[in-house]
Amino acid sequence: MKILCEVQVLNRTTQANRTPRAVKSTLAIGYKQSARDSNGNTKKELEMVLFTPQVKAGTRYKVRDNIHCVHTKFVLDGKATIGFKQPAENLLIKCDPIQLKGFLQTLKLGMEGKDAINLRLNIANTTAIPQKAQPQLRMTINKRSEYPVKGFPRTLKSLTINNIQLMKLSFEICTLRNLTTLDVSGNKLVKIPTELGRLPLTSLHLSGNALGELNDWCWLRGSKLSQSLCELDLSANGLSYFPPPLVRFESLVTLNLNHNKLRHLPFAIRRLQKLRSLHVSSNKLESLPAAIEDLHIDLLDVWGNCFKGFNVEAAQTQVQRTAATHTPTPLWLQAARVVSAHKLPYSTSTLPAILIELISEAPKCLCGKLCYALESRDLLKRVTQPKFTNIKNLTYSREHQIYSDVIICGPNCCAYPQLKALFNILIS
Ligand SMILES: [Zn+2]
Repeated sequence: MKILCEVQVLNRTTQANRTPRAVKSTLAIGYKQSARDSNGNTKKELEMVLFTPQVKAGTRYKVRDNIHCVHTKFVLDGKATIGFKQPAENLLIKCDPIQLKGFLQTLKLGMEGKDAINLRLNIANTTAIPQKAQPQLRMTINKRSEYPVKGFPRTLKSLTINNIQLMKLSFEICTLRNLTTLDVSGNKLVKIPTELGRLPLTSLHLSGNALGELNDWCWLRGSKLSQSLCELDLSANGLSYFPPPLVRFESLVTLNLNHNKLRHLPFAIRRLQKLRSLHVSSNKLESLPAAIEDLHIDLLDVWGNCFKGFNVEAAQTQVQRTAATHTPTPLWLQAARVVSAHKLPYSTSTLPAILIELISEAPKCLCGKLCYALESRDLLKRVTQPKFTNIKNLTYSREHQIYSDVIICGPNCCAYPQLKALFNILIS
């Protein structure tokens, strides 16, 4: 008789576990026919064999006069212990209770020297019960030689390919429908296939590649990826600007853009309302958009950037220009402003996509009004110091004050006189 079970082997003399935990095993019991002795009789020797993944050939235990103990108190819970005298080992068995009970009854019959149908197993040649192959869920490749020649298992949920000078992400990877985590850090990728955008990944690590070389962001327009992705690492890719489609990744919680060459972050970053960790250390940021304060960030790392002081000249000319412009506000912008100001609910079925985009991405003035069709003259660079009242963990270089860029909606803005007064004080 053979059963599929989990067995932990304990040596009673040393108290050492031969297997640190229970491992999937096959336990077999049966008679071994020995050669005829000098009288011409064959002797039947009762044996138990334990097959484990470590000992595939099986460990053989004599049964007759060799049982030290059999604990069956928890057999209904599917647990039992069989102890042998030689070697002094206890087998701690976990198994389906009915099968275990049958196995222990067979052992009892065998010990009593009875013949039972369950004992008619040629124990000399028996092998382990083949276990159903578990679907492979994870794969890690750290050497080129480990790259699978025959393709990837379709069942993969997590795939890691690090530091193997990979030049191209294969189309096949983009078709692994079960994949949720992909880590291809430390390679030589300059482009990601558009098809990757169709995978519902939750975690994507692209650190240490060269995606800033081509700046091909088509893959970020994939509808599935933009809905599902929670964690994105684009650090050390030579990025000179923030990839524009990234502001639509509304599920993002962690975004790592460390060690790039970013000069600004877009105002539209305010769309990332789930973002909690933003890493932009070691870039070339001169300022942050005021929109950062509208997010709910717990951790902001802006260490090692080029934050410059208050931009007096730019502020002065911009204030003058803002005062000089006076164009009527188009109706659609007024409509969008009302929806935004009153936080009215909207969806793709109630509003045109272009207005949704405007409401969720357009910069907001200090007064809270949506602005649109902005030219550089409306952007007041490096004029206020953000308060960051929500951020629990802020990392920045002490020698630099952080400045933020603000938008002013026009000379009639309620915040305008205040701002102008501030400039006058600073300028004079
Ligand atoms: Zn305003």
